[in-house]
Amino acid sequence: MTRTPLVFGNWKLNLTRAGARAWCAAFREQAQSEPLPHGVWIGIAPTFTSLDAAREGCAGLPVLLGAQNLHWEPSGAFTGEVSAEMLREAGATHVIVGHSERRHIFGESDERIGRKVAAARDGGLIPILCVGETEDEREAGRTEDVIETQLRRGLAGITPRSGAELVLAYEPVWAIGTGKVAQPPQVEEAHGFLRAILAAATGPGIADDARILYGGSVNAGNAAGLARLSEVDGFLVGGASLDPAGFRKIVAAAAAAKG
Ligand code: PEP
Repeated sequence: MTRTPLVFGNWKLNLTRAGARAWCAAFREQAQSEPLPHGVWIGIAPTFTSLDAAREGCAGLPVLLGAQNLHWEPSGAFTGEVSAEMLREAGATHVIVGHSERRHIFGESDERIGRKVAAARDGGLIPILCVGETEDEREAGRTEDVIETQLRRGLAGITPRSGAELVLAYEPVWAIGTGKVAQPPQVEEAHGFLRAILAAATGPGIADDARILYGGSVNAGNAAGLARLSEVDGFLVGGASLDPAGFRKIVAAAAAAKG
């Protein structure tokens, strides 16, 4: 099975609506002078309030729109929350769930993350489920234990009908925003392990088709080497996605490696 690589930018708490429009304008200008590569899917995840500005700014470009979070209920007394339907209405097709910043800063549990994955799927969004170990967990030899638990609990509420309905992101916590990139053998090992767990949980067909992205200090300089790994199906890119030119280089590296 060939999995078209996916490169998704996670803008985190960055870029106002004006910033989102400027990002799209710069990305468009580059695409006009040098066409975007084929054989790769591209996505961006702005803040909730910049979703429609990004949708309008990037209209006509092959750029998917994702949100960074959602609530599991469709409506009701949940002040400050946003539902899958609202995100779809704003133009999102994907939603990041279980990002380590949500787990560690906002205390999201595996159980809540599982409910969010189910709500995304039921609401017609493709969840990008993030899993990853902390440095202490890796040093204690607990990486597989931790990511298996996060994966199984994250998927507990869904029975995927196809691998296209699901994206996983392996994001070692110690590599996010730190400039420390996981070594290729560590990445290949973790991705292979996640695919095996996914096969056990959902069946081999789905596991073969599901994309597993790597995230953690990916940039224009290291993307090519990581993209060549057979188990890497693209990237979830934080800081480096804020610069349209650098992001485009990461997209190009993923396309070249898998093309
Ligand atoms: C992320 O936010 O998902 C991420 C991987 O961040 P960074 O690329 O900045 O490490």
